[in-house]
Amino acid sequence: MSAIAENLRRIRDRIAEATARANRPPGSVQLVAVSKTQPASAVEEALAAGQLLFGENRVQEAAAKFPPLRAAHPGLRLHIIGGLQTNKAADAVAIADVIESLDRPKLAAALAKAMAKQGRRPACLVQVNTGDEPQKSGVRRSEAEAFLRQAREEFGLPVEGLMCIPPLGEDPRPHFAYLAELAARHGLRTLSMGMSGDFEIAIAEGATHVRIGTAIFGARG
Ligand SMILES: *Cc1c(COP(=O)(O)O)cnc(C)c1O
Repeated sequence: MSAIAENLRRIRDRIAEATARANRPPGSVQLVAVSKTQPASAVEEALAAGQLLFGENRVQEAAAKFPPLRAAHPGLRLHIIGGLQTNKAADAVAIADVIESLDRPKLAAALAKAMAKQGRRPACLVQVNTGDEPQKSGVRRSEAEAFLRQAREEFGLPVEGLMCIPPLGEDPRPHFAYLAELAARHGLRTLSMGMSGDFEIAIAEGATHVRIGTAIFGARG
């Protein structure tokens, strides 16, 4: 078994155990394998081990890597998970199945325009900067509710959930709990939270998607 296949097996076991411990139904948490900076051959290894859902944080990298993989594996699904520049919105709409980093009105407008033009409507998650960190993408806590309404009502975007990256070195649990509560209040069912170091806590707090890179593919170069 390849190292990637072995890592995937271990992560899937840990996800299943955390899901059971949280008294949540089996299969209620999806694994987004974060393949940023990894070569297409690493993605192929994961595909061979049955992994179909991937996350990339750079649109250009994803656009170079994924079209041939998708052609060979029709079930492949791609999430764009990183801070998204407005001038990359059309490219993101063209290649993504889910855009996890919707966080400002300018981007919402660009995505809505690209969706209308391309006739594709990838689901969107609103990224919330739950720690209100100045350098981090995501809408601030105090603006999250207004932005959610604006994205759905003014821009008509298919907003299906929320995403967050808690501040490094802080207990992530209150951040995950806040995101889950915000989603419930707005009737949103998708919660993308939890990475290699904290996904079990995220699952306990209601994550529907965990985004895991290094624990599957190893350290990034
Ligand atoms: C890189 C990245 C991940 C994966 O992080 P790991 O610690 O490697 O699991 C998850 N989410 C986002 C937004 C990322 O950029």
